[in-house]
Amino acid sequence: MRPSDLSTLPDGVPEALEAEGIEEFYPPQAEAVEAGVADGESVVASVPTASGKTLIAELAMLSAIARGGKALYIVPLRALASEKKTEFERWEEFGIDVGVSTGNYQSDGEWLASRDIIVATSEKVDSLIRNGAPWVNDLTCVVADEVHLVDDSGRGPTLEVTLAKLRKINRDLQVVALSATVGNAGEVARWLDAALVESDWRPIELKTGVHYGNAVNFDDGSQREVPVGKGQKPTAALVADALDEEVSGRGGSSLVFVNSRRNAEGAAKRLADVTASRLAPDERAELEELAKKIRDDSDTDTSDDLAECVREGAAFHHAGLSATQRSLVEDAFRDRLVKCISATPTLAAGVNTPARRVIVRDWKRYDGEFGGMQPLDTLEVHQMMGRAGRPGLDPYGEALLLAKDRDTMDELFERYVWADPEEVRSKLAAEPALRTHVLATVASGFATTRAGLLEFLDRTLYASQTGDDARLGEVTDRVLEYLAANDFLEREDGTLTATGIGHTVSRLYLDPMSAAEIVDGLREGVERAGDAGGTADASATATQRTRPAGDGEVPEDAAEASFVTGTDLVADDGADSADDGDDGGPEDTDAADGDADRPTLTPLGLYHLVARTPDMYQLYLKSGDRQTYEEQFYEREPEFLGRAPSEFEDVAWEDWLAALKTARLLEDWAGELDEDTIAERYGVGPGDIRGKVDTAEWLLGAAEQLANELDLDVVLDVREAKKRVEDGVREELLDLTGVRGVGRKRARRLFEAGIETRAELREADKSVVLGALRGREKTAENVLQAVGRQDPSMDGVETDASASAAAT
Ligand code: ADP
Repeated sequence: MRPSDLSTLPDGVPEALEAEGIEEFYPPQAEAVEAGVADGESVVASVPTASGKTLIAELAMLSAIARGGKALYIVPLRALASEKKTEFERWEEFGIDVGVSTGNYQSDGEWLASRDIIVATSEKVDSLIRNGAPWVNDLTCVVADEVHLVDDSGRGPTLEVTLAKLRKINRDLQVVALSATVGNAGEVARWLDAALVESDWRPIELKTGVHYGNAVNFDDGSQREVPVGKGQKPTAALVADALDEEVSGRGGSSLVFVNSRRNAEGAAKRLADVTASRLAPDERAELEELAKKIRDDSDTDTSDDLAECVREGAAFHHAGLSATQRSLVEDAFRDRLVKCISATPTLAAGVNTPARRVIVRDWKRYDGEFGGMQPLDTLEVHQMMGRAGRPGLDPYGEALLLAKDRDTMDELFERYVWADPEEVRSKLAAEPALRTHVLATVASGFATTRAGLLEFLDRTLYASQTGDDARLGEVTDRVLEYLAANDFLEREDGTLTATGIGHTVSRLYLDPMSAAEIVDGLREGVERAGDAGGTADASATATQRTRPAGDGEVPEDAAEASFVTGTDLVADDGADSADDGDDGGPEDTDAADGDADRPTLTPLGLYHLVARTPDMYQLYLKSGDRQTYEEQFYEREPEFLGRAPSEFEDVAWEDWLAALKTARLLEDWAGELDEDTIAERYGVGPGDIRGKVDTAEWLLGAAEQLANELDLDVVLDVREAKKRVEDGVREELLDLTGVRGVGRKRARRLFEAGIETRAELREADKSVVLGALRGREKTAENVLQAVGRQDPSMDGVETDASASAAAT
């Protein structure tokens, strides 16, 4: 069967597919077509990695659109959204519009309504439903990519509930769920009332095996000698072996999976020795270029390290890299310029980067929940292995594990080579998940009674798997209790209604527990200052305030991340460190000296408050950190909001300190400390800094709205803390960073050149502006235009040498 056999696709699409090289459908694709995927039927496709799942989704979406419908493609990771969008954009020439919805959890504007295909993460879709995006009602086809991730305790429940909601909104909705091969695909298909396509067919043969001693032992009983030299690591020997084996005129590339970022970086550095000696001169020049782009993207040690490896033909790949760096590395690997990537599993799992050889070096990983090193799931290892083999380039792919001794080799064969993947199990009954989703379900009107709620939950995978209604009922009751106790819900005569605050929390996409923590902290701050302004139960009256439209602008500007010359440490903004030596206990009420008419909350106190919520991934405490942050805690105790745990409450105390470490990172950022120093001080990459900043901005925005709604007199403090973390600047620069095109670095240079406000910028001497902007005329013109200057032109303006010298 071939594309032109399908009459359901928009005109021109079958020919375009065939021109791309899709001459014949792969067997699982043909099966999906037979099951009606192009005729609006729901299908679960459980097939191995790289066997053409995306095309199954495209056939469904394009056919749905040809019938006048609208499609949604749900991706598991934000990083994949833009990749998928780019992939689908090739259909634009056939009149199909594609839109991507990522960014923060705020309203995405009406424009998505005009798109035929929308790409989004499940969190984003959930948020859009909560905020009542009207186009959700028009969807006729929904694709859930990597649906086996419903098994993930962090994100799975959202995907599960989102699919249930979408299917409730449109009972005829076509659902196409794409899954890796799992143990119970039939169960997933039953849950979604979908036909099942299950196959282990692959477009390219996969040989799996274990390296032990001086050879690889393959699953088919064959062996390949790969001796490990003296002082050499087996991984290096395997990477070298693949490169030395000629395939289509060039050696084969390898993908090495390891269990931590540090290991990814370490491995790449060592493997660079292997790749460096095998590069052609033209490749060296191209790699030099690539290294430069990586350095230009951000000025941190991580970038330098990556650039150094890339120059030699190797790279590492983990979530600490910026999005640009990740895609540079992925593209270069696909182009066979970068010969070897060492990657952490979480990220590389979803990205389309086939390799000649996959080496799963670490099959255990530190597990915070169970403690110690735990073996990876078979499913996860199979997905990594599935990346082996590049169709059209390799005769077959090889996926290898490493064993130091014979027993381990046997174990690895048992556990990963011969084993079937695990079953997918719903994680919805976990309380944090249920807490969030029960509130949202009630707030967005999907259920108005306990019975209605249980009926809704009955559409989830959880219900279809357990068949144990009693347990679901029990957890649900506990959650309802919690939500009512915190004034998010009211229960009267069996009816459930969300309170004003409950609605806000749901729309803001906060975990109710985060909201409760924030509200308590802010209230405590107000009370401490002796200001009684609106404490007790302001929530009841807050029903009709509309949300100040969060315009969904993500501070992509944070990507313009920047550095201030010679700026030293922070810690002294505002009137904070006034009372050092005070050893007051946690209830340090004398901070309220009575006469301030408004409490002053410091940025650090607010950063700490949001860093404590379950919505922020805190930084870990490393050895030695405990003491450092304990000292800082006592030094700055009056700034913290809410009740601090005692040192004897071990877990809570650790958490409090980890939140302090996170808050200090944010404070450093808002104190204009340069990115590189922050990265080093906290042991993080540039991607992490941006991640923390984005999350803090979102949570502080939420805190601002909660304060507003509860009439707590702290809105200005919260707003300022938010603005500062958003722009990464001290207070005095906030006016300047409000100008489009002026980030933290440029604002600081303008300020140092004597231009301190927007008004001054509007009137400033052009040569001074140009000097402060390092002689960049176009930039200077744009900035002046943005600030409303009549004649922004820089024609003939000389760079003032002294101003420019002062700026560097
Ligand atoms: P999966 O999503 O299953 O991991 P992809 O959809 O990314 O796999 O497909 C892997 C590759 O196979 C893509 O480059 C795709 O263009 C190609 N491909 C898919 N279907 C066919 C086909 N029928 N014939 C030739 N190539 C195909």
